[in-house]
Amino acid sequence: MNNLNIDQQNLDVILTEVKQQGIDYLNHIHERSTASSTEVEIIRDLSEQGFGTVEALKQFNQRFEPIMVASSGPRYWGFVTGGTTPAAIAGDWLSTIYDQNTQSAKGNGDVSAIIELETIQLLISLFNLPNDFFGGFVTGATLSNFTCLAVARQWIGKQFGKDFAREGISGTVKVLSATPHSSAIKSLSMLGLGSGNFIQVNVMPGNREALDIADLELKIQALNGQSFMLISSAGTVNTVDFDDFEAINTLKEKYNFWWHIDAAFGGFAACSPKYCHLLKGWGNADSITVDCHKWLNVPYESAVFLVKEKHQLLQVETFQNSNAAYLGNPMENFSYLNFLPENSRRLKALPAWFTLTSYGKQGYQKIVESNVEVALLFADFINENPNFELMAPVRLNTVCFSLTDESLVATFLNKLNAGGKVFMTPTFYNGKKGIRAAFVNWRTSAADVELAKAAMLEILTEL
Ligand SMILES: *Cc1c(COP(=O)(O)O)cnc(C)c1O
Repeated sequence: MNNLNIDQQNLDVILTEVKQQGIDYLNHIHERSTASSTEVEIIRDLSEQGFGTVEALKQFNQRFEPIMVASSGPRYWGFVTGGTTPAAIAGDWLSTIYDQNTQSAKGNGDVSAIIELETIQLLISLFNLPNDFFGGFVTGATLSNFTCLAVARQWIGKQFGKDFAREGISGTVKVLSATPHSSAIKSLSMLGLGSGNFIQVNVMPGNREALDIADLELKIQALNGQSFMLISSAGTVNTVDFDDFEAINTLKEKYNFWWHIDAAFGGFAACSPKYCHLLKGWGNADSITVDCHKWLNVPYESAVFLVKEKHQLLQVETFQNSNAAYLGNPMENFSYLNFLPENSRRLKALPAWFTLTSYGKQGYQKIVESNVEVALLFADFINENPNFELMAPVRLNTVCFSLTDESLVATFLNKLNAGGKVFMTPTFYNGKKGIRAAFVNWRTSAADVELAKAAMLEILTEL
């Protein structure tokens, strides 16, 4: 018997072992290191017969498992790193087990696209957004930004009477932004618009990263009526600043532009009555990016794009999988492959569906508010210790800080991260080196802040 046949008969043993290992991992994630410096030698030869899953698991456990870092644990504060809720894990397992190729909602009996459409509705409800968005899952906010801006590019073409998707880009597409995420700039490069081509709008004065609306209007007027796309932010990564969406609404009445919001993690402020004012007016955007593997706490790779339904034809023109001109209503014979970059796709919606269905609006309100609470707690510590300084006020869930002696930032952070108790990422803000701690993991509590504080104080004594 070959290993595949043996495994087929051994399925119970294999899955039970993996389940137990998963439970052990998750129950001890608080104690696991957030860093590893062990080097692994890469094997380059594939075995002839294979080893079977039980042996493969042994090898994995020997070579890789001990140095897996607790990136979904409560003290991994680097980047914007979410964890996984129990429901999300259940959904993710089932995505794998059912292994659907999520495409069409009708016709071939594939319910997985219905689950995806439903999950989008649940998210729209969670965010209190109007019902006129169409959405789908992609692998991350980068791909979501890409998808939204691709439709924006198609829209701009239409303003010149061109079909960029078919004819290629001719002429220059104008892009305006103040503090775009690096992935939006990367999207401009992937879209052939040129990453160096966006027009820098000033930020507001007073340690802000948000668009200066007066400057934005000046730059719009300088375009002499030419259509453009605006990339705005609902949560910049350094200081979680939000653009003034109500002011952008007013501009939208006067000027012809595509309005995109990168709300990768900041969109979740909508879950909380305390913080939803930050997003006031965002429902009129043409497109919105939201990451699910951040604050929704589902496993990688999960993000959604939301594009106004009235732009569906543009979206299909951009992403249709055949060159045949699309006839009629794009929602007839609906298939996701005509709406986004990928063709074959995993049922990425299921972990999100499970976690939304399991914890509801209040569950997410609680995650958001408790993460902001621990961010504020951590900021208090930074404020009170003379060795540290806040680089910006804490507006939501991220603490951007530096050492009073800027020359010590890199050494301090390297030592802190190497200690494995807590993980943070370096940044550069306002011409100064700094450190970011972003709180988006449902497990993080005040006790974790205490542990991090202790680790930081210890490093200070070693500097
Ligand atoms: C994380 C992030 C992105 C990129 O998201 P990925 O999921 O890493 O592709 C884009 N925009 C913002 C504001 C982000 O925080």
